[in-house]
Amino acid sequence: MGRGMQAAVLEAQGTLEVGPIEIEDPRPGEVLVKVTDCGVCHSDLSIVDGAVPGPTPVVLGHEAAGVVEAVGPGVTQVHPGDKAVLTPLPSCGRCYFCTRSQPTLCAEYSPALFLNARPDGTSPLSRDGAPVFRGVGMGGWAEYVVLPQEGVIKVDDDTDLAEACVIGCAVQTGVGAVLNTARVEAGATVVVLGAGGIGVAAIQGARLAGASVIVSVDPVAERREAALRFGATHAVDPGDTDVTAYCFDLTKVGMDYAFEAAGQAALIEQAITTVRLGGTVVCVGAPPVAQGISIPMVVGFTITEKRLIGCLLGSVHAQRDIPRFLALAKAGRLDLAGMITDRYPLAEVDAAVDNLRQRRGLRTAVQVAAS
Ligand SMILES: [Zn+2]
Ligand SMILES: [Zn+2]
Repeated sequence: MGRGMQAAVLEAQGTLEVGPIEIEDPRPGEVLVKVTDCGVCHSDLSIVDGAVPGPTPVVLGHEAAGVVEAVGPGVTQVHPGDKAVLTPLPSCGRCYFCTRSQPTLCAEYSPALFLNARPDGTSPLSRDGAPVFRGVGMGGWAEYVVLPQEGVIKVDDDTDLAEACVIGCAVQTGVGAVLNTARVEAGATVVVLGAGGIGVAAIQGARLAGASVIVSVDPVAERREAALRFGATHAVDPGDTDVTAYCFDLTKVGMDYAFEAAGQAALIEQAITTVRLGGTVVCVGAPPVAQGISIPMVVGFTITEKRLIGCLLGSVHAQRDIPRFLALAKAGRLDLAGMITDRYPLAEVDAAVDNLRQRRGLRTAVQVAAS
C-alpha cells in the first residue's frame, strides 16, 4: 500500500516539476511524517544545478519539520500526532563510528545520505511503479516523507515548526561546526567566510561559545548587516578588503578559528591564511565535487601546526542536538525566525531555489502545509 502525494521532483539537471508521486507506508522502524516546512539549502541547489551530481528523478529538500502521521512496526521513539524536526543524517547508535562518538559518520546511515535512498538501496518514493530517489537523506519538498525513527526527533507541542525546520540542516551544520566539530572556547577569535544560512548559524554558534571576536566575510551587503545582528563583531566585504590582512590587524596573531561556510574550495585556501600559528580551519560548506585546494604544505601546516578539519552536518548527534538547539531558541539565545527571510508554497519551489541561487536573503523555506 501507500499513498499518493504532491512532490517537487527534479526530473533532470535544472528541471523541477511539482506533481503526483507515491510514497510507501512506513516499514519496520520507519516513520511517515506529514511535512509542514522544508528549507532550501546550498546542497540542494548544487544538485539542481549539477555542481554535485546525483541520480534523477529525485525529491530534494533536507531541512524539514512536520507532524508524525503513522509509524511502522517496532517504532517506539514517536507516535502519530507528535510534532517533529527531521534530520537528514540519523545515527544508529551501534556501529564503529557511533560508538566512537562520531555519529555523522554512522556506517548505516551516512552512506544512505549519498545513495539518496534507504541503506538497502531502495526508496520509499515511486511514480507509476518506477523508483524516485529520496534526495539528501530526506526528500522534504513533498507532502510526506518516510524516514527511520532515529531521524525523526520529537519536539514540544508548542514548537513553531515553520521556524524550527531550519534546525535540520542550517543550525545543525553551522552551530554544530562551532560547538561540536571545532569546540570553540570562550574568548576565542573566529572568522566565518560566507553569511548565508549556514554562515549566520556559525556566527550564532560562535556567539553561544563566547567568542570574543567574530568576523563575518561576505560580498553581499545585506548579509553582512544580518551577520552583525546575529552576533558578528565585525563584517567585511572581501571585494574591497584584504581579509587576511584585516584578520591579522585585528588580532595581531591571526584568528584562532576559521569556518568556510560558502561552499567554495578557494575560500578554504584563504581561510588557512587567516588563522594564527596552531589555528584551526573547519570546512563546513560543500564545494562542487570537482574543486580541490592547493596549499604549500610546509608553511601551510608543518611548521605552522595549523589544523584543517572536515565537518559533516556539524558533527551533530541529532537526538542530543536538535532538542538542545530548540531549548536555546526558546531561551532567546538562538534566533531561528530571523534566519528565514522568505517562504514559498510547494508549487513555487523553483522561485524558492532561485532565491538561493541569486543569494537573496538568508534562508528560504518551502511551506508545504499549515502546522
Ligand atoms: Zn543542507
Ligand atoms: Zn551508526
